[in-house]
Amino acid sequence: MRRKIIAGNWKMYKSPAETREFGEELKQLYKTPPKDYEICIFPTYLCIDSLVESWKGLEGFHVGAQNCHWANMGAYTGEISAAMLVDVQADHVLIGHSERRQYQKETHQELQAKVMAALGFDLQVVYCCGEMLDDRQADKHFDVVTRQLDEVLGKLHPRALPNLIVAYEPVWAIGTGVTATPAQAQEMHAFIRRHLKKILGSKAERTPILYGGSVKQNNALSLFSMGDIDGALIGGASLQAGDFWAIAQAMSQALS
Ligand code: PEP
Repeated sequence: MRRKIIAGNWKMYKSPAETREFGEELKQLYKTPPKDYEICIFPTYLCIDSLVESWKGLEGFHVGAQNCHWANMGAYTGEISAAMLVDVQADHVLIGHSERRQYQKETHQELQAKVMAALGFDLQVVYCCGEMLDDRQADKHFDVVTRQLDEVLGKLHPRALPNLIVAYEPVWAIGTGVTATPAQAQEMHAFIRRHLKKILGSKAERTPILYGGSVKQNNALSLFSMGDIDGALIGGASLQAGDFWAIAQAMSQALS
């Protein structure tokens, strides 16, 4: 069976104190850590340490960063390297989130270099892809996602696969309250899985593919019941421990 993952992207929300509060609240909600899926929260760089501290020693509870630089060190004011993330015990990193593609104008060359840097430090890379509304309306969504996969993951060595997670996040569903239907998400996840196997070999069958885009408590179970949806990358609904936990419970239910 593939790994199942419930992840939260906090974007530019929460202070270190609020992060600690969330960490403790989530621990209270879980009497014991979940056995059948993993949890990962991506707070701002400033808050990684608070969450690592709060969850120290808890199996299945992970902390990641929302970005990293492609260089290990150097004259890059305002940047953070993969090596530095490892130093503060983050073990995952998001690469290619649509907000960074849009606002930071990240190019596929940069994204490819970031993926390589993160893999070089043995981080788990959550590579985000997904089409804009115009692309879907023009029936170009498969082409767009194919290009995003090829340009950034196309040259990966298959031995990197155990460190790769893909998040399919249609941009029209992020923060809009409009979720892809389970059928739309399943169709794209199955497509991504076939394509990953084409470019990275048969072991890509085991690569987790998460869905992201307005996942909430009331739609999580129907998404997680789909055969190629291995979890979620959650924005807004990951900010409250109770909401995040409720979505994670849907994964337990889908697996039972
Ligand atoms: C995201 O930021 O990756 C995301 C999916 O956000 P939301 O769940 O709020 O749509």
